[in-house]
This record gives sequence, structure tokens and C-alpha cells, in this order.
Amino acid sequence: MKFIADGMLGKLTRWLRMLGQDVKYSNNSEDSQLLTIAKKEKRVLLTRDFELYQRAIGKGVDAFYLEGLTGEEKIAELAKRYDIRLEIDMASSRCPKCNSVVKPISTKEAADKVERSTLDYYEEFWKCTRCGQIYWQGAHWTRIRKTLGAAKEMLKEQKKGN
Ligand SMILES: [Zn+2]
Repeated sequence: MKFIADGMLGKLTRWLRMLGQDVKYSNNSEDSQLLTIAKKEKRVLLTRDFELYQRAIGKGVDAFYLEGLTGEEKIAELAKRYDIRLEIDMASSRCPKCNSVVKPISTKEAADKVERSTLDYYEEFWKCTRCGQIYWQGAHWTRIRKTLGAAKEMLKEQKKGN
């Protein structure tokens, strides 16, 4: 499953990429461009714009209209619809910045790119194969797990509701 997100869904895009989903995003694409790319590359259009959603359906483009208000709600409704596992597995995770795959790198390779204190605390590092961004499961990871935990709870509730 591949996605393309409308310009209002930048934050959600980063989440989906971390969860291993292939998501195209640009915050300055015209609606018609989004529809063209979605159709050509067989991507599901994710949008919070109901008119755009209807236009997509009218043109035979697969689309999903997001109703959730918070990040957790949006993640949960997508996980439910597309059966997305709410765990970050770095082996299949994508770069939240550019959507490319990330690869593990050695501490040595990370050494000249991150702070000394980071190297002292963490042993595993990943690098984006396109933009070169370095990732590690640092202090911010607590917040990431918390958000995913909340999304999982919502998903459970939603499943119970139906
Ligand atoms: Zn990247």
C-alpha cells in the first residue's frame, strides 16, 4: 500500500513513514497534481478535505477521508482501515523527512555526525539513504512510544465499537 498525503497532513506523513509506510507529501502541491500522482502511482490519497476526497472518488482515485482531530486519532483510524502495525521496526522504517529507506550504520560512521554524549548513550544508529539524516532511539523515543500507545488504545476501542 502506498499513500500520498495532502498538504495539511505533514505530521501524519512523518508518523506513517516511521511506521514503514511509503507516503508522498508536498505542502505546495495543487489538488489536481495530487490526484494525478495518486492515479499514476496507484497511491491512496489521504485528505482532511472532503471536497478533495469527493473529487478523488469521482475520478476513480482511491482515497481516504480522515476524521480524527488529534494525531493519535488519525493514526488509529488509518491503522484500522489499512491494517498498519503500530510498532516502529527500524528494519522497515522510512525517513520521516524524505520517505527513503534508512539503513543501520556503525557507531564509527555516526561519530562525526552526532554529539559525543549521544555516542556515549546509544549504540544503534541509522542513516537515511537519500538525505543522510542520522537517527537513533533517543530521549524523544519515550514520546513516540506514548503516542503510539495512545493510538493503539484508540484502535482497540474502535474495534470494540464495531
Ligand atoms: Zn531522508
